[in-house]
Amino acid sequence: MAPKLLPPKQLENLRVFITRSLHTSSSSSSPSPSSISTAAAVSPLNLAEKPEPAFHKPPTAIQDHAKPSSILDFHDHQKLFSNLPSTKLLHASLNIYLASMSPMVDFGMWVMNSRLMETDNILRAAMIKTVRHTFFEHFCAGEDVVEAGRCIKKVNESGLRGMLVFAVEYTGDNDACDQNLKGFLDTVQSAMSLPPSSVSSVVVKITAICPISLLERVSDLLRWQQRYPSFNLPWKQNSFPLFSDSSPLYHTLKKPEPLTPQEEHDLQLGQERLWKLCEKSVQANIPLTVDAEKTAIQPAIDYLTYSAAIKYNKDDNPIVYGTIQAYLKDAKERLLLATKAADKMRVPMGFKVVRGAYMSSESKLASALGYDSPIHNSIQETHACYNDCASFMLEKIANSSDAVILATHNVESGRLAATKALDLGIGKGNPKLEFAQLYGMSDALSFGLSNAGFLVSKYMPYGPVEKVIPYLLRRAEENRGLLSTSSIDKELMRKELKRRLKAAIF
Ligand SMILES: Cc1cc2nc3c(=O)[nH]c(=O)nc-3n(C[C@H](O)[C@H](O)[C@H](O)COP(=O)(O)OP(=O)(O)OC[C@H]3O[C@@H](n4cnc5c(N)ncnc54)[C@H](O)[C@@H]3O)c2cc1C
Repeated sequence: MAPKLLPPKQLENLRVFITRSLHTSSSSSSPSPSSISTAAAVSPLNLAEKPEPAFHKPPTAIQDHAKPSSILDFHDHQKLFSNLPSTKLLHASLNIYLASMSPMVDFGMWVMNSRLMETDNILRAAMIKTVRHTFFEHFCAGEDVVEAGRCIKKVNESGLRGMLVFAVEYTGDNDACDQNLKGFLDTVQSAMSLPPSSVSSVVVKITAICPISLLERVSDLLRWQQRYPSFNLPWKQNSFPLFSDSSPLYHTLKKPEPLTPQEEHDLQLGQERLWKLCEKSVQANIPLTVDAEKTAIQPAIDYLTYSAAIKYNKDDNPIVYGTIQAYLKDAKERLLLATKAADKMRVPMGFKVVRGAYMSSESKLASALGYDSPIHNSIQETHACYNDCASFMLEKIANSSDAVILATHNVESGRLAATKALDLGIGKGNPKLEFAQLYGMSDALSFGLSNAGFLVSKYMPYGPVEKVIPYLLRRAEENRGLLSTSSIDKELMRKELKRRLKAAIF
């Protein structure tokens, strides 16, 4: 929409909003100590746990990132947001502004988590309605696959792509797993009907198609075999290495019982669900990205992912992608071992590289058992590990059929990876390299990378509002405070809105 066509009422709203945010943002250049301590650490995909406080100072000032000579140009906010209509920009800006108000987020989280939500139908309906028109619209692609499709088309028109995520969580039984599988298959089907290449991948959580208690049991058995290689697992199929020498094995302190016939049967069912999804993805020629979760169950998730990759990643076309969490001390070693084994077996492999979202529960569990945390001792080590894994994968894809999704909101990681990709001659628009951010977050980085010529996706969850609420609470938690990931977005959007408002008036 051309800015000059904004109706007078919207123009007035825009003027009031910008004036207010300009007023409040005066403190953003010098955050108070209390704002630092309350700024949420980022752990987007872990819906159950409270994030830890951030101990580092994330980049908040545009100046840090606005070097025009740099590969990512955040200086030109007009160009950066040129594909976003003013209404969308205003809406996004308002939501980020609201999400950065800690008392409001605290209150919202208190209400959403309170028993009142279960007992008071009127309050519940009012809250759901409010959430739907604010955070849900901002962070989610829609309530069903049709709305999600429409949203992806819009995102695609702005030059980005979508990772389509049917937002279902942990499941306890086979019936629920079957239901979820249907949802995932519908997601791939819908992706097939969307404009070519608008969906970069479909995302699956293994905990939605295989009971979590079984994943715990399988992980225990895999760990025991890592400790005692002669320990026999009759059900185990071909896979890549799941552990390195330094991988922590403390989750399994005594010899686990073998799987019962029922458990073996359930494992077979879980595997078959994943295979059905892989077959559908092969048919659609759309990659299937498997999310990483907690270390207690990650060996089973990796096992299922790698054995599916061996079966379905053929002919230089990695359909199945695993995820590496760079906050884990053994992340780089496991990535090296898995890619080495894949090379040896001539299996093209895809990896999504993330920092990791389960920091506080990982550290708590390790400490409760009397072991060191599996997470790097400092945020700098996590950053270094992330950049190292990204760099390794970029070198890999430059010389093989492997592929990588660099999933991060960290501007420095984005800049380093983009620079390295160009140095390696990984052409812009090369489908083996995708950058990705969560929908509703870090739009400046997404558009910056896209304007620099790279493929960029938004991670777009969809589902009924009630089901997505835990995901939304996470988004609200991580975006609050002056030092949150969204600070750069907030500042740049405000500048661009101000520019458009001036252009509309004069
Ligand atoms: C497209 C996409 C897909 C994702 N998929 C997954 C997934 O499958 N599994 C998953 O676990 N997560 C996933 N995530 C979330 C991701 O792991 C991060 O939680 C999130 O993206 C923040 O990391 P960042 O790279 O954006 O970096 P930043 O914005 O720089 O965030 C850094 C954050 O890392 C945390 N941190 C990590 N290590 C340390 C440490 N040693 N000390 C202190 N703080 C530390 C802190 O919370 C800190 O705030 C995904 C994210 C995206 C964008």
